[in-house]
Amino acid sequence: MSCIFCQIAEGIIPATVLFKDDKVIAFRDIHPQAPVHIVIIPVKHFTNLNDIRGDDFALISYIFSVATDLARSEGIAESGYRIAVNSGKEGGQVVQHLHFHLLGGRQLSGELG
Ligand code: 5GP
Repeated sequence: MSCIFCQIAEGIIPATVLFKDDKVIAFRDIHPQAPVHIVIIPVKHFTNLNDIRGDDFALISYIFSVATDLARSEGIAESGYRIAVNSGKEGGQVVQHLHFHLLGGRQLSGELG
């Protein structure tokens, strides 16, 4: 298993895990870009958004519910936050396992790149 996020989901690579069930795991980013920077992934390996079809969109909806719950528990729901997905090379995706960034705790700029 070479995917680092699969290894985090399996507990092989340590991470600060904030949420985990059989479908989704959320952990703190190792190089945070904001006071709150959480990575939320499906446990099942999808390379990026191009792999999501049909019934899998229910999982994406569930990931957003986990993300908004985390925004509340991290205390950034009212001040505001960003949920971002980098998909593919020109989207800036580095880790090839679909993931959602939850960022907050400071004023974020308009530039996503
Ligand atoms: P991408 O650029 O692919 O959208 O984002 C990948 C994110 O994963 C980056 O923000 C990076 O800091 C984070 N990351 C990469 N490797 C690890 C790791 O081993 N542990 C944790 N917690 N985060 C990681």
